[in-house]
Amino acid sequence: MSDLFATIETPVTKYEQPLGLFINNEFVKGAKGQTFETINPSTEKGIVAIHEATEEDVDIAVAAARAAFEGSWRQVTPHERGRYLNKLADLMERDVDTLCAIEALDNGKAFTMANIDITNSIGCLRYYAGWADKIHGQTIDTNPETLTYTRHEPIGVCGQIIPWNFPLLMWSWKIGPAVATGNTVVLKTAEQTPLSALYTAKLVKEAGFPAGVINIISGFGRVAGAAISKHLDIDKVAFTGSTLVGRTILQDAAKSNLRKVTLELGGKSPNIIFDDADIDNAISWSNFGIFFNHGQCCAAGSRILVQEGIYDKFIARLKERTSQNKVGNPFEQDTFQGPQVSQLQFDRIMEYISHGKQAGATLAVGGERYGKEGYFIQPTVFTDVTTDMKIVQEEIFGPVVTVQKFKDEAEAIKLGNSTQYGLAAGIHTKNVNTAIRVSNALHAGTVWINSYNLISYQAPFGGFKQSGIGRELGSYALENYTQVKTVQYRLGDALF
Ligand code: NAD
Repeated sequence: MSDLFATIETPVTKYEQPLGLFINNEFVKGAKGQTFETINPSTEKGIVAIHEATEEDVDIAVAAARAAFEGSWRQVTPHERGRYLNKLADLMERDVDTLCAIEALDNGKAFTMANIDITNSIGCLRYYAGWADKIHGQTIDTNPETLTYTRHEPIGVCGQIIPWNFPLLMWSWKIGPAVATGNTVVLKTAEQTPLSALYTAKLVKEAGFPAGVINIISGFGRVAGAAISKHLDIDKVAFTGSTLVGRTILQDAAKSNLRKVTLELGGKSPNIIFDDADIDNAISWSNFGIFFNHGQCCAAGSRILVQEGIYDKFIARLKERTSQNKVGNPFEQDTFQGPQVSQLQFDRIMEYISHGKQAGATLAVGGERYGKEGYFIQPTVFTDVTTDMKIVQEEIFGPVVTVQKFKDEAEAIKLGNSTQYGLAAGIHTKNVNTAIRVSNALHAGTVWINSYNLISYQAPFGGFKQSGIGRELGSYALENYTQVKTVQYRLGDALF
């Protein structure tokens, strides 16, 4: 087999993995002939070498996307765009086990949890397939002798840069609305997790998409990512990742062609437990809120705030619940938590843990590496923390949670809003008035009441404050990928 494909065997499936850049519906090598290795985070060993995109490849991919946007894709009816997306969703459904296995192998997420990603990715594509022929403008009564109407037109070539925490899910959140509304895309995956998007690129071709509509490149942020961010022929950039890189994306847009930008960035979300909460329910959701996906969720409930009346009981129960989370091999059926994605993320998290200890927080649970091989970290709970501590203010992006005590509703709101972020929040109470009052007062793009981490592709998702700009998902995301044109057709005689 050429070095553009490799046969990969996982405990679940043996499959053909594309390795090249996917441009114009073909897998190709990078212009500079460079490759990089993707690592299995469970074993710390290389899986396979992937072709790396550099600036030149971004130019080639953008040219392909531009040609498709100005050419064949414009001739495709909205109904047909929806059919392509539905066909792609069908093929992903056919290969669902392979896709789950790829995520478990490349990202380290538990195979059973990967199923949540893949089924939601499929659902997301179908949801936007449904929107493709429902993009409406308005007719506006301006004057009896003028027909005025608006058209919601695609923006053009979209550069999309995604992270490693939900590789295929982020792919679908970006591709779905962009393609449904008639744009073309150049998407760069995260260097840690290129495999599932490349496999799905093969399905893009099988689904019959015209060449150049969806282009997928693998490569590094500072090279391929920066080239997308600065490219003068890209009309829109959608980015998910760190707040640090989000700032450079915005700066690049300001310095170049003022392209449209949406940013989905970090979080340090509060999960607030009131005295009257159903404790069993609150414990389950608090555990899921932080430890789902090994804490590598932008919306993770990483700051648990507990009212003083149930504080001691809550801590005891959380310790007990946390110890039941099975950490280990992602391919074992009962594994809940796999490894962190990379050595770098492992080191970052361990540094935060030692910082928390030095700052005087009490380590109630965990705090150590798990096992000897792979980037596994024990689920970790810190108590006796103060608002100014780094572990309370900064996004750790790992299985580490802080628990703080509060007296009353006003203090819960104050603590809840005390970081630079505003992505999400949780509230646990049986009192409807408390739930609504507090949810109105929190600076957060999403609030979960008596639950956590429930993300639906039908509902918008995005951040207040420094957690981002714009909303993904739901009908709101259609605005990210369309621009409004006003047309005035004069029926009467000349006015001037
Ligand atoms: P990152 O922001 O560096 O990487 C995310 C994506 O951006 C990747 O595709 C990367 O290649 C690309 N990128 C990096 N530098 C770039 C640049 N200069 N120009 C254009 N693209 C660039 O994130 P990371 O280093 O992988 O993780 C660091 C921290 O970011 C994490 O610890 C976490 O706090 C946060 N993070 C948040 C999310 C999220 O979903 N909001 C996802 C991943 C990471």
